[in-house]
Amino acid sequence: MTSLSNEQETLRASIKKGAIIWGVILGLIVAGLAYWLLGSQGGMIRQGGAAVAGLLVAGGMYRKSMSSGASGAKCANCNADFSVSRINRDEVLLKSEARETRKELENGDTEITTWMEEVYDVKDSYSCASCSDVTQKKHQSTRKRDEKTVVKTTNKKGGKPASENNKQRGGKSSDKN
Ligand SMILES: [Zn+2]
Repeated sequence: MTSLSNEQETLRASIKKGAIIWGVILGLIVAGLAYWLLGSQGGMIRQGGAAVAGLLVAGGMYRKSMSSGASGAKCANCNADFSVSRINRDEVLLKSEARETRKELENGDTEITTWMEEVYDVKDSYSCASCSDVTQKKHQSTRKRDEKTVVKTTNKKGGKPASENNKQRGGKSSDKN
């Protein structure tokens, strides 16, 4: 990597910044985890071990993020490093439909999950700071919106009136009769 232009330096700096942030976040998580795992060890080993584990992970993450950022920013046209960046994103909503799944639970209740499924056509435009070459990449992106899970109680044994319980996604029903 010899002399980079101002734009290239700016892009390199922003890729580097992102890589540092990821490295620090992951490093801190791993350091915290190591500190907790080494709970039975003495203070020095515990702190040292946590610091080493955090630094190793932070360094690895930084290098990985930096190299993927660098390869994404290399221009295919003129081969310049750190010169390609996204200049625009267009999203067009192709369709939006209501979806639903039903799952029979062990206790005979029915878990009904509903959501809106939206499909977007995404068009990204990238421009090279060195040769001004503009490239476009298209992909489709599917997103879930307003996901809700409802458990419908089937009242086989009679007595109580049927009820519906609203609950957040990810919650597990552990009711058993
Ligand atoms: Zn170029």
